[in-house]
Amino acid sequence: MDTRIRYSIVVPVYNEEAVIHETYRRLKTVMNRTGETYELLFVNDGSRDNTAAILMEYSQLDDTVKLIDFSRNFGHQIAITAGMDYSSGEAVVVIDADLQDPPELILQMISKWKEGFDVIYAKRTKRKGETYFKKLTARLFYRLLSASTDIAIPIDTGDFRLLDRRVCDEMKRIPESNRFVRGLVSWVGFRQTAIEYERDERLAGETHYPLKKMLKLSLDGITSFSYKPLKLASYLGFILSISGFIYMLYVLYAKLFTDAAIPGWTSITIIQLFFNGFILIMLGIVGEYIGRIYDETKGRPLYIVRKSYGVEMKDGDLNKRTGSRYE
Ligand code: UDP
Ligand code: MG
Repeated sequence: MDTRIRYSIVVPVYNEEAVIHETYRRLKTVMNRTGETYELLFVNDGSRDNTAAILMEYSQLDDTVKLIDFSRNFGHQIAITAGMDYSSGEAVVVIDADLQDPPELILQMISKWKEGFDVIYAKRTKRKGETYFKKLTARLFYRLLSASTDIAIPIDTGDFRLLDRRVCDEMKRIPESNRFVRGLVSWVGFRQTAIEYERDERLAGETHYPLKKMLKLSLDGITSFSYKPLKLASYLGFILSISGFIYMLYVLYAKLFTDAAIPGWTSITIIQLFFNGFILIMLGIVGEYIGRIYDETKGRPLYIVRKSYGVEMKDGDLNKRTGSRYE
């Protein structure tokens, strides 16, 4: 008999005592409608309120409820990662605890999954009840991110999504610590598709993403998928060198053909222009190396195989970093 759980619902929670009862109730209703097996896997990210105690109680009353209790607050992205690591379902859904992501959408995701998609992410067409500032910065961030990287990371999409087991397993092989989970899921590949929704207001309580955490998340997003910022030095260096060269022609002209040049000015200006450009270009070169070192240290697999035909892969033969066990 196959005892494998069909769906794992991963819910990161941080100080959510005000909403957790309702979240539990809504998730139960939705998941019972599937008629299949599931687990509700809560990851308590070091809450300082009663969240953990409430969830502990639920886990005693209800076999489908599971709880991972962090020793302190490690952050939303790490909580999601732990949820994926501990999940055992054939499909894994990541959803926020505050009901901003409507649980009812899970049913739509499941039907797409049954059509054969491996990742179904939920794209926000509207965000209700969030400040103008948050919406604007989020909008800007997603655009900046997509301009700075070659990986197709979907715009206006959070972590609310369904992942097939094999995508989840691939995620586990990515060791990097400053994780931008939604970007990594895009990076992993397979068949991905979107469903659209309007993001609701938070049911109760306040956002746990103050500006500081939002900045950290955006920097993680951009820096882990692009080293364009490092290249800035070389671009600036070239621009400065070219304009410096043009200005140098003027300086020489002023020295030789006019009496506008003060003694010493010509040489100082030329030295300044030359060295500033030179230093920036050198910094850019150093940046290129650092970028490459950074890529190597992330230790991501070089590639992920969807299927192989006519070749046999034995676990032992595989390069630890690249091996994929699927056929
Ligand atoms: N969360 C978490 N750890 C944190 C911050 C948030 O696990 O350090 C959880 C939180 O409980 C919620 C989800 O991550 O389930 C999204 O957080 P929130 O709703 O505060 O963010 P927003 O929707 O305002 O971006
Ligand atoms: Mg929220």
